[in-house]
Amino acid sequence: MPLGVHTSIAGGLYKSVERAKALGCGCMQIFGRNPRSWIYKPLPAHEAGLFKAARNDAALWPVAVHTNYLINLCSPDDEIYYKSIDIFQKELSIAEAIGADYLVTHLGSPQDMGPDFAVKRVGQALKEAARGGLGVNTMILLENTSGAGYGFGSNLLHIGEIIKGAARDGRETGLCLDTCHAFTAGYSFSTPAEVTGFLEKIDEAVGLENLRVIHLNDSKGAFNSHLDRHEHIGKGKIGLEAFRLLLNHPGIRDTPMILETPKKTDGDDPMNLAAVRGLLDGSL
Ligand SMILES: [Zn+2]
Ligand SMILES: [Zn+2]
Repeated sequence: MPLGVHTSIAGGLYKSVERAKALGCGCMQIFGRNPRSWIYKPLPAHEAGLFKAARNDAALWPVAVHTNYLINLCSPDDEIYYKSIDIFQKELSIAEAIGADYLVTHLGSPQDMGPDFAVKRVGQALKEAARGGLGVNTMILLENTSGAGYGFGSNLLHIGEIIKGAARDGRETGLCLDTCHAFTAGYSFSTPAEVTGFLEKIDEAVGLENLRVIHLNDSKGAFNSHLDRHEHIGKGKIGLEAFRLLLNHPGIRDTPMILETPKKTDGDDPMNLAAVRGLLDGSL
């Protein structure tokens, strides 16, 4: 299974590849741009070229780009909704320009409009974003969330409805499963039976073949707390044994795993990578 980390793009997108390589990653995730700003500058072609060349040399697969946190693909407010679609489309074009395999996005919040509205609204947004032939080389992955407040996307059944709707239109999208978000949204995987049950739920909701990437994060928040606070692997409320059971389950043994664990010191990424490798039966 490819294992990697979310890596900084400080100094230029291609610099993230050097960082991933130095950590011994097999795959990686980056932001395509500043994740907390609406301001968008097009990516110069030479920067995309540098990234592609570095990525090919490093033989990383997959490369995922994570979208801006301000994007809300199910906002009932038209101004925010269309601005979100516009920025999403620009992020998708960056992801395609650098040859990224996946664009991972959160779904946003429909405020008090409820999940049926949100499913339709996100579906329409993804359709709009695909106009002009975008999203063919880079697949869009929908990330599950913790379900805080009116946040949408903590229920895998809703994500499944969107994925199936896109498939009916001939567009292939997938799931990016975040372990911290799933745990705090109320999906348990602490015993062998729970892990099997969890994978069955994923399979029923979205189809296991549509699970493309796992965000591997322990959780500061308790089970079903709806808190989105990532923790080092084995040091949070999920714990090492749950990760050992999950990672070694044959149903997801080949799924790429990307760490989004805290980075306070230079030692944090190597520590979490070593913790994951130590849990796996066989070699990585
Ligand atoms: Zn995310
Ligand atoms: Zn995540």
